[in-house]
Amino acid sequence: MPTREDVLQELGLTPVWRLRAAPSPAGIAEAHPAIAAQPGPVPVPQGPTDDGEAVDARVQRIAALEWRDFAPAVDACTACGLARTRHRSVPGVGDVHAEWLFVGEAPGAEEDARGEPFVGQAGKLLDSMLAALGLARDRNVYIANVLKCRPPNNRTPEPQEVDACRPFLDRQIALLKPKIIVALGKSAATTLLGVDATIASLRGRLHGYAGVPLVVTYHPAYLLRNLPDKAKAWEDLLIARRTLRAAQQAMASAAVGDG
Ligand code: URA
Repeated sequence: MPTREDVLQELGLTPVWRLRAAPSPAGIAEAHPAIAAQPGPVPVPQGPTDDGEAVDARVQRIAALEWRDFAPAVDACTACGLARTRHRSVPGVGDVHAEWLFVGEAPGAEEDARGEPFVGQAGKLLDSMLAALGLARDRNVYIANVLKCRPPNNRTPEPQEVDACRPFLDRQIALLKPKIIVALGKSAATTLLGVDATIASLRGRLHGYAGVPLVVTYHPAYLLRNLPDKAKAWEDLLIARRTLRAAQQAMASAAVGDG
């Protein structure tokens, strides 16, 4: 009788990563205990990469990156075919001590040309959303994408591209330790939550990613075409802000209690 490990090996899904819960950011355990108790990120499927680096070794290498090595490592990545068609990689931008993390899908043409996420029309709307929250992209905000390279013609990311890029996003989140994640659109939401579901079914409530509260909302590019849904996006951002404030208050109370 084959064991579970035998079956996983046969399917090319070994070694099996046993994920430990990452410690949640301060205040989350008190304000959102169910989220703080969540295990680590969804495991990265084990399949071959384009450049022949063993997947488990690659996952471990990326998981050990520090900020100073992060962008160069993304830029050197050739794990999927997008490395051949991109002009510039787009690792992410913002305040590396930020409490807020916004995650989009993938760079578009302007981002590919400039090496920075959300600099086109959708980016202008994202900047307005940030301003409405009293935030700015370089102040208490970090912005990243699921994919760090542009898919040709802005097509939807292929699952193997998402799998190849996921270790970078997981590492960004581990380094940043955000207090709130906002997933912008379906790719970000389904990748981070490890579910296949619509935005309509995921938005409007609190989720968690590896112990960090996560809110799902519409992608700014969608909102540019569907203006009435901006009101729903604003509701989602308010859920995110309330969640962050609750964690901040819990942390302040714990500090008073300690003192
Ligand atoms: N759309 C995204 O999801 N990310 C960008 O960086 C730009 C557009």
